[in-house]
Amino acid sequence: MIFVFLMNQQADKNSDLSSQRNLLGLSLEELRVELESLHIPAYRGRQILEWIYQKRVTSWAKMLTLPVALREDLEIRYPLAFPEVVTVSGSHDTTQKFLLRLSDHEMIETVLIPASPALYGEDSDRRTLCVSSQVGCAYRCKFCASGLDGFKRNLRTEEIVAQVLLVEKISGERINNIVFMGMGEPFANFDHLTRALRIINAPWGIHLAARKITVSTSGLTPRIREFADLPEQIRLAISLHGATDAVRSEIMPINQRYPLSELMEACTYYVERKKQLLTFEYILIAGVNDQLEQALALARYAKRLRAKVNLIPYNRVEGLPWDRPSQGVQRAFLAKLREHGVAATIRREKGHDIDAACGQLRRRQLYGL
Ligand code: SAH
Repeated sequence: MIFVFLMNQQADKNSDLSSQRNLLGLSLEELRVELESLHIPAYRGRQILEWIYQKRVTSWAKMLTLPVALREDLEIRYPLAFPEVVTVSGSHDTTQKFLLRLSDHEMIETVLIPASPALYGEDSDRRTLCVSSQVGCAYRCKFCASGLDGFKRNLRTEEIVAQVLLVEKISGERINNIVFMGMGEPFANFDHLTRALRIINAPWGIHLAARKITVSTSGLTPRIREFADLPEQIRLAISLHGATDAVRSEIMPINQRYPLSELMEACTYYVERKKQLLTFEYILIAGVNDQLEQALALARYAKRLRAKVNLIPYNRVEGLPWDRPSQGVQRAFLAKLREHGVAATIRREKGHDIDAACGQLRRRQLYGL
C-alpha cells in the first residue's frame, strides 16, 4: 500500500533558509566565534547545539536554559529554519520517501531505507538515509533520472543537515547509516558537503560515526583526492557502471573528462591514504554493460583495489529505453566477479513502487508534472 500524507511543518518564520548564517549550518567553533563577537560567553555555543542535536528542539523558543532576551536576539541573527515536509510516501517494504520544499520553493527528496531482518539478521535495526546534495544534477549520466531535468543549484550545509534531523523527528528513530546517493553529485558541492559531513559526524552534532557515512560519486577525480585528504574516515563509493572507457563514456559523459585510468589512480590514492576500502557501484543494464568481458575488466580493477562491488539491477526510468538484464545474466555476471576473488553482491532494491529507488529521483516528478 502506498500512503501519502501532508504535513504542515514549521511556522512561516521558520521556513526561511536564505540566511548564510542559518544555525543548522554552523559548526560549534563557528558558533562560538559568532557569539564571542557579540560578547556572549562561549559556553552558550555548546548549550545551543545541545538543544538542537541532543534534545532535538526545532525552535529557539524551546531553548529554555537561555534567557528570553538572548533567545530573541539570536533568533534574528541565526534563524533555526527547516525545509517544509510536503509529503511522506511509504511502500510495503516500508521504504519512505520524504519530499521537502526548500525556502526558494525548490524540491528535494530524501529516502529512508530500513534494513529487512531477512537480509541483515542481527543488523536489522539498520536504518539508512539516502540524502540529496543538489537540486537536480549537471552530470547527465544517460541512465539516471536525476539529471534529466538539468541542474538547479547546490544544497547549502543546513539543507543537508536538515534532511537527517527532519527524518529522525518524523520517524522518531535515529538513523544509523547515511549514504549520499540521493539527487545530485556530492563532490560538485564539495564545500557544503564537507561542512555538513563534519556536523553529521561531530560529537556535538548528529554524532554518527564516519564509517557509517558513505559518499557516492560519479568520479570527479580531483575531488576524490581532496576527499582522501580530509581527516575523517568517511567511506567512498564510486558509481562505475562501465569497466572499459568505451562502455563507460557511452553512458557517463564524465568519463570523457576523467577516464578510467585517472579515476583508478584517484581511487588508489584514497585507499592508500585512508587505509580504507571502497565500493564500486555497478548498475546492470541489459545489453549495455552486462557482458562477461565487462565483468572481467571490472574484476581486474576491483581486485587491484580490493574494492567491494555492489551490483544494482537497473531501475526503469520513464522515457529511457533501458531495462535490467534477466536474473540469469545477473547471476552469471556476479559469478564471474566471484570467480576472480572479488567480494560482490547484488543489491536488492527497495522503493520502486514510490519511485524512490536509485536513479529514480527526478526534479520534474517532484512537482507532479
Ligand atoms: N552522483 C552521485 C550520487 C548519486 S548516487 C553518483 O553518481 O554516485 C545514485 C546512484 O544510483 C548512483 O550509483 C547511480 O549511478 C545510481 N543510479 C542512477 N540511475 C539508476 C537507475 N536507473 N537504476 C539503478 N541505479 C541508478
